[in-house]
Amino acid sequence: MHNPQIHKLKQLFELSLTLSGDPIEIFRHAAKMIGEMLEVKVVCLSEIQGGQLNFLAVYIDGEIYSNAGVCSLAITPCATVEQSRDIRVYDRVAELFPEATFLKDHNAFAYCGFPSLDNQGKVVAVTCLLDDKPHDFTLEDQSILRIIGQRIGMEIERKHNIEENERANDILRINEDRLHQATSASGIGVFDQTYCNKSIYSSPELRKLCGWGSNERVTFKTFISSLYPKDRKRVIEAIRHAQNPYEGGLIDIEHRIIHRDGEVRWLVTRAQTFFETNELISNAIRIVGAVSDITERKRSEEDIHFLANFDPLTRLPNRIQLNYHFKYAISLAKRNKGQLALMFLDLDHFKDINDSLGHSLGDSVLIELAKRLSLLLRAEDTVTRLGGDEFILLLPGVDQLGAAHVAQKLLDTIATPYLIDHQNLTLTASIGIALYPEDGEDLETLSKSADTAMYRAKREGRQYYRFFTPEMQKQSERNLQLVNALRHALEYEQLYLHYQPQVAIHNSQIIGAEALLRWQHPTLGMVLPEEFIPVAEESRLILPIGEWVLKTAIRQAKAWMNEGFPPMIMAVNLSAVQFRHPDLPELITRLLDEEGLPPEYLELELTEGVAMHNPKNAIAIMEKLHERGIRMSIDDFGTGYSSLSYLKKFKSYKLKIDQSFVRDIVTDPDDKAIVSAIINLAKSLGLQTIAEGVETVEQLMLLREQGCNEMQGYLFSKPLPVEQFSALLKENLKSLD
Ligand code: C2E
Ligand code: MG
Ligand code: MG
Repeated sequence: MHNPQIHKLKQLFELSLTLSGDPIEIFRHAAKMIGEMLEVKVVCLSEIQGGQLNFLAVYIDGEIYSNAGVCSLAITPCATVEQSRDIRVYDRVAELFPEATFLKDHNAFAYCGFPSLDNQGKVVAVTCLLDDKPHDFTLEDQSILRIIGQRIGMEIERKHNIEENERANDILRINEDRLHQATSASGIGVFDQTYCNKSIYSSPELRKLCGWGSNERVTFKTFISSLYPKDRKRVIEAIRHAQNPYEGGLIDIEHRIIHRDGEVRWLVTRAQTFFETNELISNAIRIVGAVSDITERKRSEEDIHFLANFDPLTRLPNRIQLNYHFKYAISLAKRNKGQLALMFLDLDHFKDINDSLGHSLGDSVLIELAKRLSLLLRAEDTVTRLGGDEFILLLPGVDQLGAAHVAQKLLDTIATPYLIDHQNLTLTASIGIALYPEDGEDLETLSKSADTAMYRAKREGRQYYRFFTPEMQKQSERNLQLVNALRHALEYEQLYLHYQPQVAIHNSQIIGAEALLRWQHPTLGMVLPEEFIPVAEESRLILPIGEWVLKTAIRQAKAWMNEGFPPMIMAVNLSAVQFRHPDLPELITRLLDEEGLPPEYLELELTEGVAMHNPKNAIAIMEKLHERGIRMSIDDFGTGYSSLSYLKKFKSYKLKIDQSFVRDIVTDPDDKAIVSAIINLAKSLGLQTIAEGVETVEQLMLLREQGCNEMQGYLFSKPLPVEQFSALLKENLKSLD
């Protein structure tokens, strides 16, 4: 063998080993160098793995191959190298190891194999040199080959380390991928900060949650400036606590951030601080945590909170909020010996808007109204919608004068026309006011008082405000008593009718009768219609009662007719509730049919106020009644504000001049002028007139002079029970004879 080459080889080899990089490259390099320098035919550098020879690099006749296959170690001469852990040299090797086919394939005659050992002395690789002629390596050559073997061994170990690392990296990568997939699927962001570093590791998901750029350097400052300003202090406090080793190091906090897109989001951050502890102190060194977006949950919580505390339509606070605000206001008022006002506000005839224009328009009106109310009030005031068209206003620190001022402003604001869906609307409201401490000391009492005052305002003609008075309290208690008693009045037969004659002015002949309702209650005594009819109207008990009145009066008219009295008109008073009831025309026709009274003998008395409220609607109803042949008269005429244009369209037959004008007609020239004007007006419209409440001959004379057609009053007769009225009819009949 050529010693110099071997030495050169050793040097080159050592040089090449200093190179780092892919071990396979180094094996290829080594095999090539050995082959070229020693001029051998084949160099085969194989790793031993699980009883196999793994050909890492093979040099054959100047060509180099890597990862050239495997073969079983046991059948090859390399097995003897492994066993002896030393150089083995064979001639006629193909014959010696007939099963190792590669020897034959390469026509190998001489074999020299040397081992590579690892740290534990285990053979990890064998490099063999094959030739078709015998080798003549000296002992020194052999020891150099041994050294080369050792170097290859080191490289094998490096290869193992690299492989191990790669495997570990693969596992790490897989785990990281899994973690990333899991966190991104669940939307959880992760952060990790070692306190000695300024920058914070933040996962892609966290960056997405906060809107941070994917390559942006995230620091504590980045995080703090993302926090919603109002939550900043709280979060910093929580971090400070977590850095205290005595407080467990945990953070669990819900807070808001401002995403880079400007949107406010709710996050929950849960984190754990790690401490470094020596005998003396513990230091926070690292914090690791997870962050998730809870905006949706918070929004639904906010929605629930909103629904529980606010009116969804107008967005005004509801009764719960009112309670809360009231408690605060009253405690302040008590402490300061101050006052407060509670107002009950109810729209007048809001039902008409809903009925005629639809609920969605009604809703828009309420929304607009709520805005107006809120704008008018001070920040410390509360306006609450109780439902429907009812509102409660709480005005802390307001006295009677202030409340009156606010109430008037409210009425004015509400009365300003509304333009909704191209419709011009006007609204009015009635307001009841209760004051602390005079009218109550708790919300319930004050509400009741304000409600009572509001009802009074409504009764007094609406679009008013009224302060609560103790007299109202008595009144409302009385009303309650009446309603309860009135519920059973029909059933217990406490109701009956009186009839008051209506006579022709020129000859005092009875031409009709007005049916007037009477109520005799066993303990309440005789209750006047002026008192109980408004109560019946409010409770809608007037519907069954009114039907009974109509039926009884019609039956009576028919009875008198049957008794042979000359036909006369039966006048029946109709309340607004009855008048607006959609079934009214059918009801009356049915009752007339049942009793067999021709429709022209029935006259319905409508007060001027009822006819004039929503006159278009009134005209439509009157038309329907008129078509059925039923007469109508306008009762208490002169007290309402009739529009002449409407009056012309009303299908009424008669105007009943209100008794308040008749009363002083003789002494008061104004009243005389009014009565005269009404009579002339009626004449020009082709209507009859009847004067109510005629008590004196003087009044009668004057009315006759003015050309009034009929009269009704104590002068002729008080309202009478049936029998007395029958007697009067008989007398009247006689006077005709
Ligand atoms: P109204 O329809 O204007 O009835 C006339 C009222 O004047 C009656 O009072 C009658 O008794 C009273 N009156 C008649 N002549 C005189 C007089 O010369 N001097 C004085 N001072 N008063 C006279 P009443 O019966 O107390 O009824 C009061 C009101 O109650 C009625 O006024 C009417 O609006 C209402 N009302 C009575 N019955 C019914 C009914 O069945 N249904 C409805 N909805 N309302 C009714
Ligand atoms: Mg009447
Ligand atoms: Mg009247």
